[in-house]
Amino acid sequence: MAERVYCPNCRELVETKVESRVETYPVKGEDIPVSATVRVCEACGEDIFDENLDERTLALAYEEYRKRKGLLTPQEIRSIRESFGLSQRGLAELLNWGEVTIHRYENGAVQDEAHNSVLLALRDNPQFVLNLLARNGGRLAPREVERVRQRVFELLQVSDETGDGVVRWVVLPKWLSDLAEEKKLNLSQVLQHALRERLGTS
Ligand SMILES: [Zn+2]
Repeated sequence: MAERVYCPNCRELVETKVESRVETYPVKGEDIPVSATVRVCEACGEDIFDENLDERTLALAYEEYRKRKGLLTPQEIRSIRESFGLSQRGLAELLNWGEVTIHRYENGAVQDEAHNSVLLALRDNPQFVLNLLARNGGRLAPREVERVRQRVFELLQVSDETGDGVVRWVVLPKWLSDLAEEKKLNLSQVLQHALRERLGTS
């Protein structure tokens, strides 16, 4: 466990130990308590800065902050992006965000709440992606646009010979919608079945 490192206070190589203690880290102006791991000089008892331990503690503080605010985790952001077959840069372009924004979020930077809401909308309303494509699709390569459209239609379960889909808004009683969501029903699929049955088409 013990490792000899330079102590700026003792001005020599010293034995150190790693301690855990609760510290408060500021994250976006908010004080977040976190169980920090800190390297301490055995000789003088002062803390010695340790980049790896500090990064670990900061990551924990970010995690706690995300939990408190109900923010998406970096892994969740990545899987939203991947569900549409987009590159990090492609998603940033589609959203008209800074080029490296998504890259930063997926690597642990904490997103602001407005960006978080947009990412949630992407996840929960694939139709929203179609609106974005209509608005910002010109920033993407035509092949990427086509791939995203295909993914959205797959997610919406729109598939027939024409491969074409339209977006319809449907109003439901909240309890019914909640129940359907709980059962993980695909509303588009259910509606398509019901319509086919009602209209007598196969
Ligand atoms: Zn020391």
